[in-house]
Amino acid sequence: MKNNGSNAESTLALDRVQREQIWAKTSHIIEDFFSKLREMPVAPKSNPVELRRFLESFQFDGPRDPLDVIDFSAQGLSKNRLNTSHPRFFGHFMPASSAMGVAADALTAAFNPQLATWRACPFATEVDQHVIKSWGQKFGYTSGSTFGHFTSGGSEANHTALLTALNSKYPTYRSQGAVSLSARPTIYTTSEAHLCHLRAASFCGLGSESVREVPVDSTLRMNLDALRLQIEIDRKGGFDPLMVVATGGTTNAGVVDPIAGIASIARKEGLWLHVDAAWGAPAVLIDEIKNNEFSGLDQADSIIMDAHKWLSVPMGAGMFLTRHPDILEKTFKFAAHFIKLDESAGFQVVDGYFQSLQWSRRFIGLKLFMTMATEGWRGYQTEIQRQIDLGKLLRELLTESDWRIENQTRLPVVCFTDAISQIGTSKNFLEAIAKRVVDSGEAWLFCTQLKKDLPALRACLVSFHTTADDIRALVNALNRARQGILSSRFT
Ligand SMILES: *Cc1c(COP(=O)(O)O)cnc(C)c1O
Repeated sequence: MKNNGSNAESTLALDRVQREQIWAKTSHIIEDFFSKLREMPVAPKSNPVELRRFLESFQFDGPRDPLDVIDFSAQGLSKNRLNTSHPRFFGHFMPASSAMGVAADALTAAFNPQLATWRACPFATEVDQHVIKSWGQKFGYTSGSTFGHFTSGGSEANHTALLTALNSKYPTYRSQGAVSLSARPTIYTTSEAHLCHLRAASFCGLGSESVREVPVDSTLRMNLDALRLQIEIDRKGGFDPLMVVATGGTTNAGVVDPIAGIASIARKEGLWLHVDAAWGAPAVLIDEIKNNEFSGLDQADSIIMDAHKWLSVPMGAGMFLTRHPDILEKTFKFAAHFIKLDESAGFQVVDGYFQSLQWSRRFIGLKLFMTMATEGWRGYQTEIQRQIDLGKLLRELLTESDWRIENQTRLPVVCFTDAISQIGTSKNFLEAIAKRVVDSGEAWLFCTQLKKDLPALRACLVSFHTTADDIRALVNALNRARQGILSSRFT
């Protein structure tokens, strides 16, 4: 393909015919991937030496045919990637992308709107805000008191939560930093919380040791008495308790900390309550779970959710929400005035770079907006309930096959050990089972550690492609793997 534009060396500006070939080829490859997902291996093996040799053919010393380059990239992705979109990928919360999410990301890439300021793309900023406020209402906030933005993911959103808590409490933090504080702030989570909270504490200048690991009860939930006690110990020790992080669906075991109980302690003690519901938040669409596990969520000072997990939009879609109107500008705005009015329209608008860690900002919300617009709350609700039911089925089938369930939750993640053999809870044994299942190509899962040192096999299911047959296939593969290892040990 030759560029017929003014600069013969450049292919940045192709002509219409060439571009249409590129779009057609790309959409053909995408559709092929979507429709053949089930036939593709769950975990193709990659060889780093071969991969690098392959890439070395690209010395960027001359133009190449765009269609060949697309082919090369698609092949590379398809052959060298844990196939997290596969219906039998039970490893992490990375389901297949919704079709509308892919379309939205393509539109976003093409129009490439800049969301740093409202003026640069009012549509994008308003869509983001509309989606944030809609979810705020599902979490129990009112539309008028939901503020927030999209982030690259849960880590950035949790980092934002700590920054807002710090700026809400300490007027000098923003200009003089953590060193200006007379007492060291402390943060409360559990052993089951995500490690990004340790990193956030480190990045915010508090140090990861300011994060207290509150003991959990036998169901892996934060123990409220232990939380009260730790706060008291810290106050006596000269620390300044700042924030408590309740996890709304732990990454490992899907358990929800007792949010309502934590909220009342936080209120009494004057702590910022943050709920990290990165993957579990969509469960609020199920009334029974909203009114039990997630009761008290409306009292959270901030909440985060990853739309790229259970809501199945393409990667890079975290959300930060707070009910405090001015805290984002107080934290992120470096300019003379705090409230900016759009002069032409005369009403208050959101300028992304004054309200978040990012400056140039991609249109992240479109993929969720377009998926929600076609799916509706009902569609998401039905799908989430279906997956919760598959989680129940997995628990039942595992129990019938003499596996012991190690976590209690209604969310679809199941941790289990072997109830038959003497070595049923040994790490080596469970890891060997996971390896056999993965090597068999039947499914993908791994062995985790609960409370940091109790090994357990773990399967989470958040994919709209997964069916009851896939669950049965997983249990059969596990049974075969266990049998295979046990018989080879004793013969
Ligand atoms: C996934 C997850 C995170 C981190 O989110 P990223 O999007 O990977 O940055 C934080 N907390 C919990 C509970 C999670 O499950």
